[in-house]
Amino acid sequence: MTTRRNFLKSAGVITAATLINPARLFSQNRNSRTSANGGSKKLTLTWRPYDAQMRHVFTIANSSRTTTPIVLTELAWDGYTGYGEAAMPPYLGETQASVIEFLKKVDLSRFSSPFEIQDIMTYVDNITTNNTAAKAAIDIALHDIVGKIMGEPWWKIWGFNAATTPNTSFTVGLDTEEVVREKTHEASPYKVIKVKLGMDEKTDKMMVDTIRSVTNTTICVDANQGWKDKHYALDMIHWLNERNVNMIEQPMSKYLLEDAAWITERSPLPVIADEACQRLIDVPKLKGAYHGINIKLMKCTGMREAREMISLAKSLHMRLMIGCMTETSCAISAAAQLSTEMEWADLDGNLLIANDVFDGMKIVDGKITLDNRPGIGIEKL
Ligand code: MG
Repeated sequence: MTTRRNFLKSAGVITAATLINPARLFSQNRNSRTSANGGSKKLTLTWRPYDAQMRHVFTIANSSRTTTPIVLTELAWDGYTGYGEAAMPPYLGETQASVIEFLKKVDLSRFSSPFEIQDIMTYVDNITTNNTAAKAAIDIALHDIVGKIMGEPWWKIWGFNAATTPNTSFTVGLDTEEVVREKTHEASPYKVIKVKLGMDEKTDKMMVDTIRSVTNTTICVDANQGWKDKHYALDMIHWLNERNVNMIEQPMSKYLLEDAAWITERSPLPVIADEACQRLIDVPKLKGAYHGINIKLMKCTGMREAREMISLAKSLHMRLMIGCMTETSCAISAAAQLSTEMEWADLDGNLLIANDVFDGMKIVDGKITLDNRPGIGIEKL
């Protein structure tokens, strides 16, 4: 009895010590530790611009491009390094210069450990009203470093079930019939093809018919706000519904909430908000106008807020998708940690670039897989 009491007493002491310094609990796990900042207990943030080279020219309703500007971040603390990333497709309104300008304003010296994710990200978010990708670059690095200190991946820390990850779609952008056919063949290892529509009727139908001439695989459609009239959009959705399409993303402008609600009420397919849904605060406004939301780390400032959006959307009985920009395996693997909660996933951004700099989340048989690598589950190549 005495022994048991002593044991409980010392267990209590350990718990109290842990509350004072959570990092100490995990101090035995040093295998992912490096000496990036010489083991200093000072949070050190560094960054470098990086251009992701696209495998194909990437075309959506309003733009075309061959590279995507990215800024890679590193956060060092107590000998650990966490990696983060800001990816900036042109329509997001951020550039490498604006991200770097933002990162220079961030003073992490006021925080004593990366475990203060809530306080750190509240501070970071309050620096400016926009810069969501730059904020995500800090948030992702924070989650990576904390997971590494704990020796666990975030899906496990959050208590998610790794067996419930969805298939990811593989994106086929707008292109000529010949290239679409080639891209569709390239997409054959994937269970879902995502097709970017929102051009004129002839082009949109050519895209879907061309894919259908190659495969009967499930298609997700993203109109990227391209359709201008709700009656036309609904007609297109009915046409798509007859061709094994299982959802439609952002059929019309993000500003046309009433038109979205009109379509959603009548649509045979789930209608998902992407451009209309940036952050947590947008979620309740979209209830009723869309069936669900597409969460992207670059839009919502990262993993902390994405986790909150999941809970809020679930409480509102809204359906969930996770998407990405053109990103390296860093941000893709971070998003994958949340994918277990999703009905749809579009995490193919790293597969569309030719010069990835991380080894991370693997797609097996079209399905997202999560392993036990700590943090966001990546290694630098
Ligand atoms: Mg989209």
